[in-house]
Amino acid sequence: MLFDLHTHSKYSIDALSKPETMINICKKKGIGISITDHNNMDVYFKGKVKQIAKEKKVFLIPGEEIKVLANQPVNKKKSSVKNSKDILSNAKNSLVSDKCVGEVIAYFLNKEIKPNTFENILDEIKQQGALLSCPHPFDWPRKNFKEFSNEWRKFDSMEVYNARAYYSGLNKKSQKFHDVIFKEKRISALGVSDAHTPEEIGNGLTEINAVNEEEFRKAIKKGQTKIIKNNKAGFSQHLQTQFARKNIISER
Ligand SMILES: [Zn+2]
Repeated sequence: MLFDLHTHSKYSIDALSKPETMINICKKKGIGISITDHNNMDVYFKGKVKQIAKEKKVFLIPGEEIKVLANQPVNKKKSSVKNSKDILSNAKNSLVSDKCVGEVIAYFLNKEIKPNTFENILDEIKQQGALLSCPHPFDWPRKNFKEFSNEWRKFDSMEVYNARAYYSGLNKKSQKFHDVIFKEKRISALGVSDAHTPEEIGNGLTEINAVNEEEFRKAIKKGQTKIIKNNKAGFSQHLQTQFARKNIISER
């Protein structure tokens, strides 16, 4: 089955697609989808997308694209109390700065994850039994994964084709990197659209031999995916995300 595993709905500040439009497009194209809005899962919990997907028999994977924040420079003063769990968890939170150093995507989440450090996000993902993916790993005009690239073994999948990459060299770099690491760990390669408008859905796809969650997880864990490069997002689509931010274009 074909999947578009990185898409945005109107619940992302820079996207225009109504969830129902997205599901209808997937139905028409016969593909599965993950809607991975920026730092929120409102589309799943405030909207009716789960119900619509179920009715239309579209394979929908609850996901989110989450900002990774830098660790705060370590405070030299050491806390004298160390045996309280609360104090430890407060200390952990106080180590989070507000500087964004990249993004990750999580699949099969049942609870929204707020922007946090890579370690804290990873903890949450593990607790929820979700899968961790690396979006646009070398896309420097957007956030790339430079700051946590030495953690690549912790990822289950990685985008090697993102249809919104500003130039094709960025995807080529991802492909090269993936080719090398795949020899050590079978991290699944993904092709995605990163659609912010309905027309972009399917621009990049991933073929996975799965018709249910269990099969999907198994295939991802084994690195059994195939990428499909359809189209690149055009200038007009990039422009529309700017209009969406300013709220001067309506959702569709
Ligand atoms: Zn995105």
